[in-house]
Amino acid sequence: MGYVDEVFESVVAKDPGQQEFHQAVKEVLDSLRPVIEENEEKYRRDAILERIVEPDRQLMFRVPWVDDKGQVQVNRGYRVQFNNSIGPYKGGLRLHPSVNLGIIKFLGFEQIFKNSLTGLPIGGGKGGSDFNPKGKSDREIMAFCQSFMTELCKYIGADTDVPAGDIGTGAREIGYMFGQYKKVRGLYEGVLTGKGLSYGGSLARTEATGYGLLYLTDEMLKCNGIEIKDKVVAVSGSGNVAIYATQKAQELGAKVVTVSDSAGWVYDPDGIDLAALKEIKEVKRARLTEYKNYRPNSEYHEGRGVWTVKCDIALPCATQNELLLEDAKALVANGCIAVAEGANMPTTLDATEYLQANKVLFAPGKAANAGGVATSALEMSQNSERLSWTFEEVDSKLKNIMVNIFHNLDDAAKRYNAEGNYVVGANIAGFEKVVDAMTAQGV
Ligand code: GLU
Repeated sequence: MGYVDEVFESVVAKDPGQQEFHQAVKEVLDSLRPVIEENEEKYRRDAILERIVEPDRQLMFRVPWVDDKGQVQVNRGYRVQFNNSIGPYKGGLRLHPSVNLGIIKFLGFEQIFKNSLTGLPIGGGKGGSDFNPKGKSDREIMAFCQSFMTELCKYIGADTDVPAGDIGTGAREIGYMFGQYKKVRGLYEGVLTGKGLSYGGSLARTEATGYGLLYLTDEMLKCNGIEIKDKVVAVSGSGNVAIYATQKAQELGAKVVTVSDSAGWVYDPDGIDLAALKEIKEVKRARLTEYKNYRPNSEYHEGRGVWTVKCDIALPCATQNELLLEDAKALVANGCIAVAEGANMPTTLDATEYLQANKVLFAPGKAANAGGVATSALEMSQNSERLSWTFEEVDSKLKNIMVNIFHNLDDAAKRYNAEGNYVVGANIAGFEKVVDAMTAQGV
């Protein structure tokens, strides 16, 4: 058995229940095979793969809080500090009932390579809780966030570990957490990113993941001789990433015809009405069933099915494993030419393989959605120099970063005879820098 397979088997044997983590590790290790084969003796001696799949530390803690009825609730909090070879741990906090250690480990593992690809000095980490923010009052959200940070604040800091938002954690939650960090630690520092503009946040951070997704997609299409203008785009999700991906796609002249949430999806043949979508999701915090009230011509469908729509470009922006093999088949049958992942690992391994085998351009999340964390790193820079940059300055840096990421992974794929395989390119390019730093810093 080769080195890659040995390490993968030991990962599964050590933590058998962590399917999402295994999936993420498998994708990365499989695409690293050519690099590993070239350096096998050295990598084995230095235990590079064993070290990269094992987090530096995994924190789990109790999060007690009082609900509006006076009942004490208990959730579990997590922070996995995976790898800080190239900078302080950096990655979001996911608040969702599905959260468990395996999911946080998969996200933290992805974050190592994603953060490396940005070219900025940030390591990989991730955290969150199985807390369900849906239906909670503002006071309950605050109570949870304060309790969560009361424990987490012992382990993070502007130069050690800098969390941010993810599913369920937006500007409101970051604000409550920042306030609690400041209160308990007595430090006013850039310990979180995605902060409000009045207390150290960066312009364009809110838009960054969605905008970045489109900057990278546009570059990928251009390099393959395709124009994005007038293309029909299917977007899944309706959170921060989906909203700003829709906005930028529209600005680039494409037509976005779908969005979705966990209950169903919207098809709007005339193109998604962004103002309506923002009002429903950001102001009312309501469900997509409301969309029809704004656009009588649109259709609302319950359940999955967003990928059955005829589109040129698919942008999965909801959550992990939302685009399955059957969806990939439907997309190919309907003439889809490109898939770019706005969420983390939204496409299953078999679906990815199917798309690539059918010549669909495929941009993996760790490259395509890196604009969020890249702009977080720009927020850290602004906090360090106690200055704030204009929207245009941040946005133009973001665009450069995304274009560079695409060329880095395109070049890496070409170096290893995998031209056009951006999954292989992203994993190799992300890995090379981390391994170089790990090796330089010793065991
Ligand atoms: N949660 C985002 C991601 O998956 C952003 C992380 C950050 O800004 O630190 O990359």
